[in-house]
Amino acid sequence: MGIKTTSLEPWVKRKITGDSSGVLTRKQIEDYQLGKLNETLNWVSTKSRFYPRLYSGLDLELSSFQDMLRLPFTTSEDLKDNPLDFLCVPQNDINRIVTLQSSGTTGKPKRLFFTEADQELTLDFFQYGMLTLVKPGDKVLIMLPGEIPGSVGDLLRLSLERAGATGVVHGLVTNQEATLEQIKRENINVLVGIPTQVLGLARYKDSKGCSISLNLTSVLLSTDYVSQAIVQELKRAWGCKVFNHYGMTEMGLGGGLECEGFCGYHLREADLYIEIIDPSTGQLVVDGQLGEVVFTTLTRSAMPLIRYRTGDMSRFIPGPCSCNTILKRLDLIKSRDRVYLTQTDYLTMADFDEVLFVFDDVLDFEVTMTQGMQEKENQLQLDVQLKKPLSWDAKRNVQQALDKIPVVRDARQNGRLRVFFYFVASSGVISRKSTAKRQIQDKRGVSECG
Ligand SMILES: [Zn+2]
Repeated sequence: MGIKTTSLEPWVKRKITGDSSGVLTRKQIEDYQLGKLNETLNWVSTKSRFYPRLYSGLDLELSSFQDMLRLPFTTSEDLKDNPLDFLCVPQNDINRIVTLQSSGTTGKPKRLFFTEADQELTLDFFQYGMLTLVKPGDKVLIMLPGEIPGSVGDLLRLSLERAGATGVVHGLVTNQEATLEQIKRENINVLVGIPTQVLGLARYKDSKGCSISLNLTSVLLSTDYVSQAIVQELKRAWGCKVFNHYGMTEMGLGGGLECEGFCGYHLREADLYIEIIDPSTGQLVVDGQLGEVVFTTLTRSAMPLIRYRTGDMSRFIPGPCSCNTILKRLDLIKSRDRVYLTQTDYLTMADFDEVLFVFDDVLDFEVTMTQGMQEKENQLQLDVQLKKPLSWDAKRNVQQALDKIPVVRDARQNGRLRVFFYFVASSGVISRKSTAKRQIQDKRGVSECG
C-alpha cells in the first residue's frame, strides 16, 4: 500500500495553476519557475540598489535555466554589508524585520525584510505543510519563540488555526518537567521544536526515575540539522512519526518538509528555485551529487534573494519518492559548519551528534576548538550536559565514543589533537536559551584578552 502523497504537492499545484486538483507535471513547474525568475530579475533590477550594481552589463533575459548560470551568487556577507540596498519596496511597506546575529563574537548582523504579502507566503506554506503531520482538531505545542507578532512561533500558530488545528505557543523549553506537565494537561498530541530540546523531553525522568508517557502522534523538528540518533530516540520513546523541516529566515522560514516516506525534504517549489553547486568551482553538480544549496526566491517582494549561497550541504535525491510526488527531494542537510584540522580533514557538529546523542544521559553539549601548545596541535573541548552525575566508567564510555569519528581518531593517534571533557550534571533545567544553530566554536587564532 502506498503512503500519502506530500501535502505540499496540491498546494504547489494550486499556486502554479490556480487549481489544486489533478496532475502536476515537471513541465508546469519549470515553465512557472522560469517565468517567476524573469519577473524577479526585472523587479530587483528596477527596484533595488544592490542588484543593478551586481548585474551591471549582464543580459538578464532568461530563456532557460542554463542562463541563470551567468548570474553571480549572493552571500550572507552581501546581506550584512548592504541590507537596505536589497530593499525593493519603500521602508513604510515593511511589515517585519528579522535580525540574525552571527554566531561569532564579532561581525555585523544580517537583516531580512518582509512585507505583509511576504509574511503571508510563509503562513500559506506553514498551513499546507503542517497538513502532512496534523489533522483538524489536533493540538500542537510550539516550542519555538513566538511572543512577537510575525515571529516563527506566531506564524505557525496562525497557520495551524487556518488548518483547523490548535497551536499553543510555548517558547523554548527551560523547565522540562513543567513542559511535560503542560503537554499532558492540555492534551497536546503534536510537538514542534528544536532537536536537542525535544530529545531532552523524551529522555526526562521524574524524581522516581520514571519516564513520562505521552500520547503523541507526530513531532516536527526544525531550526537545526537533525541527527539520526535523535530521530531514532524520539520514535523509540513515543512511538510517533518524526518529521524534519528545512528552512532558514532568508528563505522566508520554510524551505522543505519530509513526507511520510521520511526520505528527504520536498521543496517549496512555487516559492523557491533551488540549485546545488560545487562550493569550490561554483558550477552545478549533477543530481545525486553532494554540493552547496543555493536558492532564489520566486515570489518575495521586499527583499528577493537571487542565487543565495546557504552554506548548507545537501543533494537532490534522484528518482521518485515513495509518496509518488512530482516535487523534487533534497537530502537531509549535512552540516552548516566545518572546522578543519588539516587541509582536507574537517569536523562538523553533526559528527559529534551522531556519536554522543546515542547516550541516554547526554542532554546537550558544546564543542570548542582551540590552538594547542605545539604548532599544528589542536585542542578540542567538550562541555557535556548530563541528565545525572555519571560513574567514572560511564563517562569513559562517552569519551571513547569520540573515536568513532574517524577524523578525531586519526588526529588523536598522530598527536594532532588533544581532547578535554567537562561533564556537568543538571536536572531538567536547560541552559540553552536561543534557537541559534549549534556549531563548533572555532577559537583558534583568537587571543583571549581583556
Ligand atoms: Zn515523498
